Formats: sequence, C-alpha cells, structure tokens
Amino acid sequence: MSRFFDPKLSALTPYTPGEQPKDRLLLKLNTNESPFPPSPLAQRYAREEAGRLELYSDPCCTALVKKGAEVFGVEEDEIIFTNGSDEVLDFTFQAFCPKGAIFPDITYGFYKVFAALHQIPFTEVPLKEDFTIDLQDYLGTSGTVFIANPNAPTGLYLTPAQVETIVSSDPDRLVVIDEAYIDFGGETSIPLTKKYDNLLVIGTFSKSRSMAGARLGFAIGNKALIRCLNTIKYSFNPYNVDRMAMAAGVGALEDKDYFRTNCEKIMATRAWTTEALEKLGFTVLPSLTNFVFAKHDRIPGKTLCAKLREQGILVRHFDTPRLTDYLRITIGSQEQMEAFAGAITNILEG
Ligand code: PMP
Repeated sequence: MSRFFDPKLSALTPYTPGEQPKDRLLLKLNTNESPFPPSPLAQRYAREEAGRLELYSDPCCTALVKKGAEVFGVEEDEIIFTNGSDEVLDFTFQAFCPKGAIFPDITYGFYKVFAALHQIPFTEVPLKEDFTIDLQDYLGTSGTVFIANPNAPTGLYLTPAQVETIVSSDPDRLVVIDEAYIDFGGETSIPLTKKYDNLLVIGTFSKSRSMAGARLGFAIGNKALIRCLNTIKYSFNPYNVDRMAMAAGVGALEDKDYFRTNCEKIMATRAWTTEALEKLGFTVLPSLTNFVFAKHDRIPGKTLCAKLREQGILVRHFDTPRLTDYLRITIGSQEQMEAFAGAITNILEG
C-alpha cells in the first residue's frame, strides 16, 4: 500500500469478482451472466448511439426513465438508473444508513464491502440451518435492512407478503430489497413501494436482460427516496449511465418477448439441471434464480470446482465454513448444461 492511502481505508477487503477468463474455450458458469446475447433491438439502439459518443450522456436518463416507469408501473420520479445495480447499492449505503445496516450472514458479498467502505456499522444475521431467512430476526431491529431476494448464493426466495411483514413492522426503518434475480420465477415487490415509503427495490439488467457488460441497474421507491439517491448521484457522477447503455436499456425494455422467452428458457434449463444433478447424487436447493446451489454427498465443493476447471468449466466455490460443501452453478443454455452434466458424470466416474 502507498503511504498516501488513508489509514481509515487500509483495512478494507475489496469484493472479489468472479473470474473473467480471457480463454474463450472455458464454459463460464461462475458469475451468473446470461448465456444469451442482449436483445437485437438493444444492440441496434446501442450501435446507433455509438456515433454520438462525442456528447455527454443525458444525466436525467430521460428516455430510459420514461420507458422504465412504464414497464415497471411506477411514476417517473420513482425510479433512478445507475451504472450497474452495484452503484445504486453503494448510493443506498451512503444515503440511508445513519443507524447502520443489517443483512443475512450469507448473501451478496458486496453489502459488507460497501458498509466497510463507507464506515457504516453492520450486523450480519445468521440464516437458519436450511439457509432460509427467519423473518423474526428482522422485526424490531434498528439499522437499514438489505435483503437480496431471491438470495445469492442460495437462490432462496421470500414472497412479497413476507417482504411486507418486514417492511410494515417498522415504518421508520428502511428496507432495501435487491431483486437482481427476481425475473427467474419470483414475484417482484415493486408494487409495495406504492404502499410503503420505507421500501426501496433494486434491480439490474445484468441477468435477465443479458446486459452485464453494459452496467445498468436501477432503484424504485417513493419519490423522496429517489430524490436522495439523485443527490448522491449528482454529487458524484451525473453522467453515470453512458449513452450506449442507456439506448440498449430502452431496447431491452421494449423487447418484452425476447426477455420473457429467455427467462422461460433459463427456468426450463434450471429444472433440467436440478434433476440431472439430483440423479448424480447432489442436493440442490430450490432456486428461483439463474443459478443453482448444490452439494455432492461424497465430493467436497472445492475438489469438484478444481476438477471442473481442469475440464474447462468454471463454477463458483465459496471457501467459508457454511458454504464450503457447495457449488454455485450458473444456468447457461441447455447445450452448455448438458456439457456441464457430462463433465460432472466423467468426474464422478473417474
Ligand atoms: N445484487 C446481487 C444479489 C448480485 O448477485 C449482483 C451481481 N452479481 C448485483 C447485485 C450487482 O449486479 P450489477 O452491478 O451487475 O447490476
């Protein structure tokens, strides 16, 4: 570390992103990307916008806000777009955690990093033995609640009624529901933002809309909350969404059939993969995401992860005590998952 680094930050442990190999031959099932390209309409709009990159992007994201408000059924002042949902999560930690933050011990690893970066005290609440969330743990606590729903890396889900139980238990405490994976079979809590001004729902175009590389995320909530997030944005980077991402985002929202078909394909392949893994001796948690979380009854997660890598297949292993037996496996295309199941069969037979 340089001697110029602020000592307050020297203990920071940054988030470790999943590996992004240069080698195209690898089957990449480690970072929950979509196996499908972005919608052709999204691609066309992005290409058209490429010729205007000499100009700054629209800081108000006008066209995208208009389309997003229409698609998600909210007012234009109830939505903000950002550079990936990581950015709006960061803004949320900065803006809304004067009494600290509280989230499950097993969840998206970045929550802890944002809290540490902004020196926000946080509490990690252990998930139950079966990895489910005990709603009681979030009633009567102070501090802003962050819940990934469905959760990562478990894939487990709370219904909007369960979300409402937490939100309604204390109108003076903000609840942030991170719906990065909601489109793969879950029901969104966005409608609850009409009823509760202490609920913020966060979404991303990285998964179900095949745009991880474009970096486009959003938050939806009461207009006062969105105004605060805009205050942070305009105090940091007003042009946080670039022209091509913005144009592609509009195209992705317009192309509803492409979106729906891809989500359905992933869900069908998830069901196939779950069955295939169970036949091979895995326990698979019931997932409502574009990944499954699974453990084998004989072979440790770390060993399997390494053996798959030798065969050119990347999956995610978390080397922490409660997760070490498991692998998080992104659902790719049907052909990819058949190749994956074939590789696992070889490993188990070998
Ligand atoms: N939330 C969750 C639960 C995630 O798993 C991820 C990405 N892996 C994100 C947010 C961030 O996604 P992005 O910044 O690509 O929108």
